[in-house]
Amino acid sequence: MMMMMFYRRQPSRRAFVESIIATTTITTSITTRARDGVAGLVLNNNNNNNNNDNDNTKSSTSGILLINRRGIAGHSNNNRQQQQQNQQQNNSQNQMETYVGGNRARVIPSHQLTLAQTTNPLLYRKLIRKLMPGVPLSKPGERQTVALEDFMKEFQVLHVNRGAAGGMSSSSPSSSATARGGRGGDERDLLVMSKGAKLVGARKRTARFFSPTFDGSSNSTSVEGGNSDGRGGGGGGGGGGEGGDRQHHSKSMWQKYRFYAFMLGCALSFYAYRESVKETENLEKQNYTTEKEYEIENWSGTKKVVVDTFTQPETTEALEAIVRHASLRGKKIRPVGAALSPNGVAFEKEGMVSLALLDKVLHVDEEKKQVTVQPGARVSDVTEALRKYNLTLQNYASIREQQIGGFTQVGAHGTGAKIPPVDATVVRMKLITPSRGVIELGVKEGEEDKKVIDPTFEAAKVGLGSLGVASEITLQCVDAYQLKEDTFTTTPERIEKNHETWIRSYKHVRYMWIPHTDCVVVVGSNPIDSKKKKSLPGFGTVLSYLTTPNERKQNKYRTKPMIDLLKKLDKESAKKAEQENVGFGELRDLLLRIDPLNVDHVKKVNAAEAEFWKRSHGTRVDWSDQILGFDCGGQQHVLEVAFPCGTLEEKGENLVSSANAGVSHPSSLRKDLLFMRDLRKMIAENNIPAHAPIEQRWTSGSSSIMSPSHGEKDSLHSWVGIIMYLPTQVEAEREEITARFTEYGEQMRDALGDEYLLKTHWAKIELEKNMVRRSKQVERLKTAYGKENFRAFRDLRRKFDPKGVLMNELIEGLFESK
Ligand SMILES: Cc1cc2nc3c(=O)[nH]c(=O)nc-3n(C[C@H](O)[C@H](O)[C@H](O)COP(=O)(O)OP(=O)(O)OC[C@H]3O[C@@H](n4cnc5c(N)ncnc54)[C@H](O)[C@@H]3O)c2cc1C
Repeated sequence: MMMMMFYRRQPSRRAFVESIIATTTITTSITTRARDGVAGLVLNNNNNNNNNDNDNTKSSTSGILLINRRGIAGHSNNNRQQQQQNQQQNNSQNQMETYVGGNRARVIPSHQLTLAQTTNPLLYRKLIRKLMPGVPLSKPGERQTVALEDFMKEFQVLHVNRGAAGGMSSSSPSSSATARGGRGGDERDLLVMSKGAKLVGARKRTARFFSPTFDGSSNSTSVEGGNSDGRGGGGGGGGGGEGGDRQHHSKSMWQKYRFYAFMLGCALSFYAYRESVKETENLEKQNYTTEKEYEIENWSGTKKVVVDTFTQPETTEALEAIVRHASLRGKKIRPVGAALSPNGVAFEKEGMVSLALLDKVLHVDEEKKQVTVQPGARVSDVTEALRKYNLTLQNYASIREQQIGGFTQVGAHGTGAKIPPVDATVVRMKLITPSRGVIELGVKEGEEDKKVIDPTFEAAKVGLGSLGVASEITLQCVDAYQLKEDTFTTTPERIEKNHETWIRSYKHVRYMWIPHTDCVVVVGSNPIDSKKKKSLPGFGTVLSYLTTPNERKQNKYRTKPMIDLLKKLDKESAKKAEQENVGFGELRDLLLRIDPLNVDHVKKVNAAEAEFWKRSHGTRVDWSDQILGFDCGGQQHVLEVAFPCGTLEEKGENLVSSANAGVSHPSSLRKDLLFMRDLRKMIAENNIPAHAPIEQRWTSGSSSIMSPSHGEKDSLHSWVGIIMYLPTQVEAEREEITARFTEYGEQMRDALGDEYLLKTHWAKIELEKNMVRRSKQVERLKTAYGKENFRAFRDLRRKFDPKGVLMNELIEGLFESK
């Protein structure tokens, strides 16, 4: 622990080692024996006024050690007054003086110290090499003697550990025992450091992890050497210490055990240190790169971080070592995939580890239809690798640039009432945890039939990068299939009428609601039958797309309503756009840019977009990975929520009317459509400049406890995403849009969050800044995921990452807020 605190501040191994040599204070003990009435000694008392044992933060201070046989140190608070008197007297005296209960006495300058190697070999070596060049180093536990004067030439005493004072009688049995152990009644812990070194910051007692023994006796070669009767430890036979036996007995016991506890702490710290050094050495041999001040930005440019230490391992072994090392040092190492997430969920300023170079497709099991990949493999690459096996992933999101690690860890999804989100397709994974090393989770090879539910696996599939770093992931695939996709527009009323049919009859279906209009775009697709498939040409071929084959002409036709609007508002831009035959996404940006938060303007843009879609009815056929992706438009803010809406067999409780909207819904409506009614109503009533579209998709349930669509396999969950584009690079304008979008999200959550048990997509959730709102946000999370699941996840997180090296502000705020 102490070691960790130290190490954490040091950027490199070398710096760390140097810091030990240069700035670490060390606990030592000194034992004195009474000789000629001298019961203690003063070490280097040039600066007596600095004799404050709580203030060991002063740099290059010459510390003072005052010891007597009763262990009453001159700097003890109890003796403060006396000490001051003593010091006044002492100032005029020879520098090597001592006090015995306030009496001044001369020190024999030939005092010797006995050094024993205990826990810190580095410092021990330094002491021996400096003080006794040529003398072989002792083994741990052995002792060597050195002249006190020599010692003082090289080292300064910073601090005397008052609590470690012996204070016991030489006749006390316990003191005898202690004396035999080499820590007699007059022992003192010293904090020493090299002369000229600077002590940085407040180390206080936390810095103590070393305890060689110093013996101040003039002739002793060991502590026991001067105490053949075993009594009195360093106090020897002097009478001064004998009076306080009983009264000091329990204290001495405490001192004794405190010492052992301390030594144990030292040993553990040292072990951690050795491990850390070994780790560093190993790391140096590993394949990885580290960059400082590395800037990273998400897809929309809405989140940015300059990472202090950005590490990219090239091998799994290096990744494992990096996690172990970070854990030992207590240094942040948040995993990042493709960094696409709108909320920058992977970002952490202190340190991140990128999985980009661990991108291999490791194995395809044709029989089981499973693919095992490294976490950095992109969805698109895995898809291509699967083609030759005639396999594909079960579902796709709108883009395929995600890494499999990030894709699964946030519980991403596509659409299809019977198709689960991607995390539910994970059958096995290897997770590198900071506290438990590598753990393998999921269905073991050959045990596929056993239906064992492993709570850790169910938590780790959507682990948000905070339970460990996934180093290998096996996904369940399906036979590759081609889809015939229908695109058409309809009205909200017709949606309500046909929804139950469409949700069942299309394998994949999504609705795009155009706010402030009565237009809804339906995009549904079904696999084409195998006979037709044989006759289809190769990958990526669009058999029919809309009504005419000429794409350029087609684009002109479809975008005309938008061009017409642009002509009215900004002739120059319209002319350019026409010449360049720009696509619909870019046109939308050009239009919105004119006045993105003006609700009347947005209504006009949305109306033009609705016209665009009305001109875009059509059908196309292609492989599923090609069909299921779609153009997401320009830079944007998105907020997507998921909520349960019954099963395909029954609509269950979802028939309850929506209280918030104040509308009595017909009982035939499923909760997903009730939600859309309420949302559209809220947008209209609040005059929200809602950009288009509002995307609505579905998945079946996932067993992952942190999946926003957690539930039974046959449960149905709807995902709804609201959007606002950022069609400008002017910072002030972007900020205004951001603020309005934040408000829009809050309005949605406040109006509908509790009623629909909304769960925000993990790549899109933002931490509430206002603390009242934040505690409400956390309460909602707990309710929506279930208090037990929430707690189980949090407990696992604490277990696997007790030091929080994988955490960032978002995770901490959501899972560790009081
Ligand atoms: C244009 C666009 C369209 C999108 N469309 C969809 C969509 O249709 N459906 C959908 O569900 N989402 C969608 N998203 C969200 C997107 O799918 C997620 O943000 C994405 O899965 C993140 O992948 P990534 O590789 O960028 O992960 P990152 O954003 O880098 O990381 C995501 C999370 O995963 C963790 N992580 C990454 N790798 C590992 C690892 N190896 N081990 C442990 N944790 C790890 C990170 O710590 C972080 O918590 C879209 C995003 C954009 C920008």
